[in-house]
Amino acid sequence: MEVDPLGFAQVNHSCYTIMAPFHGGGNVFLYLLKGDRIAVVDTGVEHTPSEVLQPALAGMGLALSDIDLILNTHAHLDHAGGNGEMKKLSRASICLHRDDLFMADSVQAQVEFMTAPLIALDFSREAVGERAEHTIANTGQAVGADTVLSEDDTVDLGKGIVLRVVHNPGHTPGSISYFWESEGIMLMGDGVPGMGSRPGGYPLYFDACSYRRSLAKLSRMDFRMMCLGHAYLGGTLVNHPIREGADCMLFLKGAIRTADTIHQAAVDAVRRMPGAGKRELALAMVSELVYSIPQVLVRETGMPGAAAAAFATHIDAALDGSYEADIL
Ligand SMILES: [Zn+2]
Repeated sequence: MEVDPLGFAQVNHSCYTIMAPFHGGGNVFLYLLKGDRIAVVDTGVEHTPSEVLQPALAGMGLALSDIDLILNTHAHLDHAGGNGEMKKLSRASICLHRDDLFMADSVQAQVEFMTAPLIALDFSREAVGERAEHTIANTGQAVGADTVLSEDDTVDLGKGIVLRVVHNPGHTPGSISYFWESEGIMLMGDGVPGMGSRPGGYPLYFDACSYRRSLAKLSRMDFRMMCLGHAYLGGTLVNHPIREGADCMLFLKGAIRTADTIHQAAVDAVRRMPGAGKRELALAMVSELVYSIPQVLVRETGMPGAAAAAFATHIDAALDGSYEADIL
């Protein structure tokens, strides 16, 4: 993949990726699809459309006003945070899965969603406050959605670009992939966060059971390219947002192994420490995972905030026995 100095890279004849930085040192990868109608997959944070998308589009001879559709993979702040600005500058219509509508409709709902795992694991008030502030600072105006999508809906952009909606919840309730079947390309946002995106990190998902079922569902599907929302760790490449060929299945299997390993740590902690609180259980998981997930080795001890969501949901699933580690 060659990166153009103007900030975009060509994925295939009608698809481009654009890297957008956001507060806190992260990058999110957006995708542009050029059919008879032009669509952007995700909009980044509040000012990504004017600060990143506009100059990248200009490099392709396009303007924001040429965008017809916003196809959100989910409603997180770094994927749908730019929806408000984008809508103002382009009047593009927003498509989003129905189960993430609550976050697209309300910044407060998104704050509650993002902070719930920290509160469940007794993080300090400062840590909860910081997460809330980061969420508010990166999320633009809540503008909801114009078209609510469900499993198997199709979006036809013309020129042979027909995208089928694949619901893969877990990262968020309404996480979806847009499957361009004729090209074998899955545009999937954060539905499969691999082994996390930062060294020492953990994958981010809020419902371990639906996440594990989504991984099983995706691993039964036939595609040749995964276009991810971040440069996740896993597979044969250290950090890359686009996975091709055999690397797709390696990346998926790595995500499954990582989730199952985190779950086993939760099960072990619950078994060893009956009656313990969730924070104690999570701390025991950190100690165990240092030895079983290699990338965690570089992480200092203590409980990383990035682990909170996955740890909290795996603890809940270990307590009620609802996680299915053996589904493929
Ligand atoms: Zn996300």
